[in-house]
Amino acid sequence: MVGRCTPVWIVTIVCLAGCSQSYKTTTNSIENAQKLDDCKVVIDTLQSENLPALESTETWNGKYGPGLRLTTPHYEIYTTLLEPLMLRQIPGFMESAYHAYNRLMPQPIETTGKLRIYLFADRQQWEDFTKTFAGERAEVFYKIKAGAYYLNGACVTYYIGTRRTLSALGHEGWHQFNNRHFRFCLPSWLDEGIAMLFETSRYEDGIFYFEPNQNAHRLEGLKETLISSQQIPLSELVAMNPGEVLAIDQAEAVRAFYSQAYALIRFLQEADYGKHAGDLRQLMVDGLTGNWPLSRSSKKIAADRNMPRTVEWNRIVGPQLFRQYIGNDIDRLETEYLAFCRQIITRVPQIAQSQTEGFHTTVRFTLSEPDGLLGCTDQASDAR
Ligand SMILES: [Zn+2]
Repeated sequence: MVGRCTPVWIVTIVCLAGCSQSYKTTTNSIENAQKLDDCKVVIDTLQSENLPALESTETWNGKYGPGLRLTTPHYEIYTTLLEPLMLRQIPGFMESAYHAYNRLMPQPIETTGKLRIYLFADRQQWEDFTKTFAGERAEVFYKIKAGAYYLNGACVTYYIGTRRTLSALGHEGWHQFNNRHFRFCLPSWLDEGIAMLFETSRYEDGIFYFEPNQNAHRLEGLKETLISSQQIPLSELVAMNPGEVLAIDQAEAVRAFYSQAYALIRFLQEADYGKHAGDLRQLMVDGLTGNWPLSRSSKKIAADRNMPRTVEWNRIVGPQLFRQYIGNDIDRLETEYLAFCRQIITRVPQIAQSQTEGFHTTVRFTLSEPDGLLGCTDQASDAR
């Protein structure tokens, strides 16, 4: 009996599998044709607006379905997001960010090749892309619950709401910019602290203006850190990377690191009418040109982009640079820094509802990899 029935089952299963495959192919073709039509509509819409930062718009036939390639003077933006209201902002936002990054430089840098950005419509596409793009590191990036990462010269993100997507792009764009142009890679406190200056912006007449003092999320984090007396001592702050605390799953410590690094850069730029601003600027200039007074081995790691920064390198170089450029009297600087922190948390701007939906406690951090190497990415944890 069993022997006679078996072929029937096989035929049935093969047929079902075949029908299912054929149905899926037909459905995908219809969806793709629909998306191609949508692309054309969006291209027409964007072109009709004559956006100043947008050089060209064309269809991108990526593996993840039809999408668009937006080209600006300094960026190539590949996207499967077909949302005109969002897309009309991205070119101007990235160009504004590029000019804002440049304002930290002694003179403007002209990038030789365009910087690449991937913006996916949803998480699934982002994960599929990451699987190929990041290879064995993909698992690390899957831990990101909402946000973006920078890897191999590209920022890779997916749509998480307009404001939050722009915030992630402004932050990651800084990592991309300094990795492309700086001779030396930056220690975590400096790299992350500056990246957070580009998380909040205001739009006016086609230009985005970055407003670090409106970063409610970081200010809120700083306030919670100070109120709960969980602040990281300054000497430790400039030595650590958030991956070290992430490894032991301390969300409060990660929040403290980010909010304090954000406040530290603002302190150096703003406190006492910018009395430390020149020192910070010199630190940046020497990192750009490769003139930090480091040991031979530390210099070698700093200059070799194929040699990842290690936790150990960060622990040596972070404090060393802070002492050499900003000052050796850590106790006095810490007193001034904490006074500045208390001052800036007295007026925390309201966080817009769209920023908080499903995003109750948000932290960005650098994931540490199993072997202790630093991988720079950002992670946002939701309220679950
Ligand atoms: Zn970052």
